[in-house]
Amino acid sequence: MHRILKYLLNLVLVLGCVASPVVHAQDRPSSTVLFENVRIFDGTGARLSGPSNVLIVGGVIKTISSAPIADPPDVTVQRIRGDGRTLMPGLIDSHWHTMLVSPSMFELLQGDLGYLTLLAAVEAQATLLRGFTTVRDLGGPSFALKRAIDEGRLPGPRIYPSGAIITITGGHGDFRGAGDLPRHPGGALTMQETVNAAQLADSPDEVRLRVREQLLLGASQIKLTAGGGVASPHSPLDASTFTEEELRAAVQAAANWGTYVGVHAYTSEAVQRAVAAGVKVIEHGHLMDDASARLIVEKGLWLSFQPFVDDGFAPQMPASSMARLRELFSGTERTVALIKKYKIKMAWGTDVLFSSANATRQGVLLAKMQKWFSAPEVLAMATGRSGELLQLSGRRNPYPGRLGVVQEGALADLLLVDGNPLEDLKLVEDPGKNFLVIMKDGKVFKNLVR
Ligand SMILES: [Zn+2]
Repeated sequence: MHRILKYLLNLVLVLGCVASPVVHAQDRPSSTVLFENVRIFDGTGARLSGPSNVLIVGGVIKTISSAPIADPPDVTVQRIRGDGRTLMPGLIDSHWHTMLVSPSMFELLQGDLGYLTLLAAVEAQATLLRGFTTVRDLGGPSFALKRAIDEGRLPGPRIYPSGAIITITGGHGDFRGAGDLPRHPGGALTMQETVNAAQLADSPDEVRLRVREQLLLGASQIKLTAGGGVASPHSPLDASTFTEEELRAAVQAAANWGTYVGVHAYTSEAVQRAVAAGVKVIEHGHLMDDASARLIVEKGLWLSFQPFVDDGFAPQMPASSMARLRELFSGTERTVALIKKYKIKMAWGTDVLFSSANATRQGVLLAKMQKWFSAPEVLAMATGRSGELLQLSGRRNPYPGRLGVVQEGALADLLLVDGNPLEDLKLVEDPGKNFLVIMKDGKVFKNLVR
């Protein structure tokens, strides 16, 4: 299958489907770049720095100085004039599905992995051009695409892959119908398992097996669905799916590999069971109560939160799914209040599914957070805070080094913004216009400063 995918990806390049202002990474060795006269948002603070110069060497931020920086010897330095504009970290989406963004639910369920990967390759370039230089992928067969991006064969963000969503029979992520039942243990795999989009596990032993398979494939963290979800045909939102014992089996298998488990969980029961099992990140949390929020803080967990609000951009889903989505909308405000009340360690993510059109609003979804948080807080959520969350992958971190910050020694994922996003967060809503330079791993993928 790998060979076929490689061929298909090469075909994309040959056909020029990804031709645009973006330059293929393979044509650009990591160069030495000097940003001159920029003011820095470092990913954590509330204020821009004074006029600064920033030298990038070999994919790393080498020097930051208010004084002129001398050219390193024996290399050609690409100079980018900042003219007082803002240099900030590349954005991080902490809850993304590289492989599930573009296809409709119907296309996804056709199970054509080659086609889905091609759609995802096109979407990956668009993601990078929106200024998102890293995504934490919370489910889907993204390993081949990640590999091709990391090898510089096509443009796209850094991907922290979970691999398959691991679920139970009837849980969130099980898309089978009545005609697929009963399943015989040891029998034929379902389509979703064959393409490694989701794996079913109904005992601690099965959970260990499925977790270890994802780790073999290169997962940087493991994703289980601890409760019901919107897009699934069978799992009510109130359902708690895995037992604590099953969740603990996943946590142990991940810990043996030096990494962690994040779970999809909306309700208090699902959250509390996950906390008890040693899970490190709660994804969503929209229906949790006060006690659950307090527990998350007491036990030092992260919350990866999505601003689900009814803005008319929900993907096409059956009526039962839409009803569940509306229930989540009703929980968003309350969860934000809990996040603020307990100062929960929070990273921001979009969880866009089944809609390229909605994906184009990735920056809009970030700016939406300003309804509840200040612009510096929102920008930190999508840079420095998310970068901290990524460090949880420990020994399985595919990109060792610091992300989400502009600091000497950090990885050079940077945006040059035409304006000050700390004062005008809406700048992130129009990345095509306002992000003049997009750099990932020290390589310039877009440059409108000539
Ligand atoms: Zn998700």
